[in-house]
Amino acid sequence: MSFRTLIRVALVGLLVLNLQHLRAADSLHEIPVPIDRGEAEATEARLASKSWWVQVGDSYYSPAEDSSDIARRPQELFIATGIHLPKALGERAILSEAGVHIVHLQGGRPTDAELAAMADPGCHGFDGRLMLLQPNSRIAWPSRQIPPAPTSYAFPDTAILQVLDNVSLDKYSETILRLTGTGRRHSTSPEILEARDFIQSEFESMGLETTIQPFPVAGVIGYNVIGKLVGTKYPDEYFVVGGHYDSRPELPFPSPGAEDNASGTAGVIEMARIVSRLSSQYTVYFVAFSGEEQGLIGSKYFTLQLVNEDLGSKFKGGIIMDMISYDADGDGKVLLNTDSTAPWGTELRGHLERAAMDFTSLDTIVGVYSANSDHAPLLFIGEAVLTIEDDVSNYTCYHQSCDVPANLDLDLGVEIIKMNLATLLRLANPDPHGQGVLTY
Ligand SMILES: [Zn+2]
Repeated sequence: MSFRTLIRVALVGLLVLNLQHLRAADSLHEIPVPIDRGEAEATEARLASKSWWVQVGDSYYSPAEDSSDIARRPQELFIATGIHLPKALGERAILSEAGVHIVHLQGGRPTDAELAAMADPGCHGFDGRLMLLQPNSRIAWPSRQIPPAPTSYAFPDTAILQVLDNVSLDKYSETILRLTGTGRRHSTSPEILEARDFIQSEFESMGLETTIQPFPVAGVIGYNVIGKLVGTKYPDEYFVVGGHYDSRPELPFPSPGAEDNASGTAGVIEMARIVSRLSSQYTVYFVAFSGEEQGLIGSKYFTLQLVNEDLGSKFKGGIIMDMISYDADGDGKVLLNTDSTAPWGTELRGHLERAAMDFTSLDTIVGVYSANSDHAPLLFIGEAVLTIEDDVSNYTCYHQSCDVPANLDLDLGVEIIKMNLATLLRLANPDPHGQGVLTY
């Protein structure tokens, strides 16, 4: 186990910090520039006169005229990603938006030992990386500002619309109630087995080849639940649609985990329910992971088995749902997180952006840095994208017993499921004959 992995494992449990928009008063000045085409030129002109600037989500940031300190020392600014940061780092965050935090560390990059000292048992979602901020760069941006390249798909849009009609808010809601109804789904709780059995029986009732994949986690056995739809044309090559079903907080507290992550697990089940009634040219694995909260243990194990079975090169792409139904400000935004440091480009993310535009009311924010969820292990074998709402940093019930269904905005989840489903249909049926597979 590497030192960094040790740090990651140490960063678990409870921590709620409201870091959103937290800024040191004299550090960065936000230029409130609306992102629309008419204003873009004026924005660029204003930015040109700044010593440096950076774009995060909808906003541009650059040093205020009178804050010469930070203006002169961008080498002291670092990017950290994740839902919440360890407290010591969070206190130095000068802005937090779209799952990205910019922290000001006088003296530059901390050593691994210093980072370890900052580690806060109870902080999940920070992957231990600090990346130097590149001046004049975009960290995250709305798709409407830099739209993905148009692509043509064999699967006709009319057929996709017909399929998307079958995404059921009632069924989605029912599944969330069923998952949260177990009371606890902590990876080490006895009740998580009830959730495991429920997911397994759902996949089986859909006619998927269903397996339970055991692995060690936190002194017990955790279980991934895998439903496989075998491809009609390319059975050896596969997509992965996944999300974790384990939850927080620690025992003995109730861990209903409605948003984190019954919302995403129910999304996986809803997609499986619909796709299993069609056929797919490529194989699709629908996976409910466990052990995510202990450090992505289930998705790491799943990926490792694929590699061990020499299937790594057959991976066509992964769509992960983690926290998809909380929308505090009702803005209908979704983050598409991937990782620019992976050698696989961002083609899949472009397909998701395109599907969101073509079939949903979602506003997509894309970023070049990954947050820490089950897509991360898959990035070792190909392209994977995390789909996640953008209000996570404001969700005070994150990892608390109060993470209950009443907090959710299921319409957001349904829209995200539609984006993901449309993308899967387009990519898993790349030949014209894909259009003949509807059975509705
Ligand atoms: Zn989660």
